[in-house]
Amino acid sequence: MSTDPLPILELTFPELADELGRRYGRGAYHAAAILAAVYKKGLDPLQTPALQASPRLAAALARDASFEPGVVVDAKTSGGVVKFVTRLCDDETIESVVLPMATHLTVCVSTQVGCRMGCRFCETARMGWRRDLRVEEIVGQVVAARRRFGDGVRNVVFMGMGEPLDNFDNVVQAVRVITDQRGLDVAMRHVTISTCGLDDGIRSLAALNWPHLKLAVSLNAPNDRLRNELMPVNRRVPLARLMEALRAFPLAKDAALMMAYVLVPGVNDRPEHARQVAALLAPFKARINLIGYNPLSGVAAYRAPQADEVEAFARRLAEAGVFVCRRRTKGRELAAACGQLRSRVPLQK
Ligand code: SF4
Repeated sequence: MSTDPLPILELTFPELADELGRRYGRGAYHAAAILAAVYKKGLDPLQTPALQASPRLAAALARDASFEPGVVVDAKTSGGVVKFVTRLCDDETIESVVLPMATHLTVCVSTQVGCRMGCRFCETARMGWRRDLRVEEIVGQVVAARRRFGDGVRNVVFMGMGEPLDNFDNVVQAVRVITDQRGLDVAMRHVTISTCGLDDGIRSLAALNWPHLKLAVSLNAPNDRLRNELMPVNRRVPLARLMEALRAFPLAKDAALMMAYVLVPGVNDRPEHARQVAALLAPFKARINLIGYNPLSGVAAYRAPQADEVEAFARRLAEAGVFVCRRRTKGRELAAACGQLRSRVPLQK
């Protein structure tokens, strides 16, 4: 009998059933009971009737299985936005955010402790990269959000700490687990992976042929000179290479590529920048999410834009033919807006 660790949150229902069969000679019935306890009922799986009736299996799982990859140690709410901090088994901490939308809740999950991409406007970048999150540590953030807020948590966006495509295999397996109908059952069309533009990762994602998965790209600059300055990844993957990878990305019939543009006043908001963005996006069915820059703590390199500066750039984009979505910076008060997550425990109250 195997005594290898069995991280339950890393497996889809068929994978768990196979694993229970291979290890303990059990299968679908017990897999279903375990997943229902973990994801739907919030119970200790070892206390469910199915496991209590199988004491040898319960004892083996008590020895091998992990059901909780971390502990939520802090949470803070402001304006309906909740940021929570999870302490992991090695004492690293990660942040996740729950955002209220019109009809549901969105949870924004982290994929790494820190990040190595070095985007100039990003709080996480200042931590550097510490490590990748394991699958169960990614899925655990969705489980924590569901436990607190219920089934209303229907959207999962991979936009927290870390570059998701820099932890590709674990992120992809986390998506499989999160969308498993016998588990958390999040619809694939409600999952968004965000990237700073790693072309190899975008191609690998395209090769999975998940047309309902949404891809969001942090564009943030309309030309290589400026993007090199704001996002060092652009020196490795310049815009032409990024655009080439995006052209090969499959989109559902009514879907559009989402491009995030953090507006930094005096840096990337000139009239010619709007025209350059329009030219760059002309071959795509794309939408720009325009986000006002949120100043980093203790750094005065850039300032936040005034509302009229954001409006002016949005208008220029629209006049140039770009579909623009003005994103209200939910969570600014919590340092939980885009590019603002950083491990800090306890949260400043
Ligand atoms: S914006 Fe995203 S990719 Fe860039 S440094 Fe921050 S977490 Fe990493």
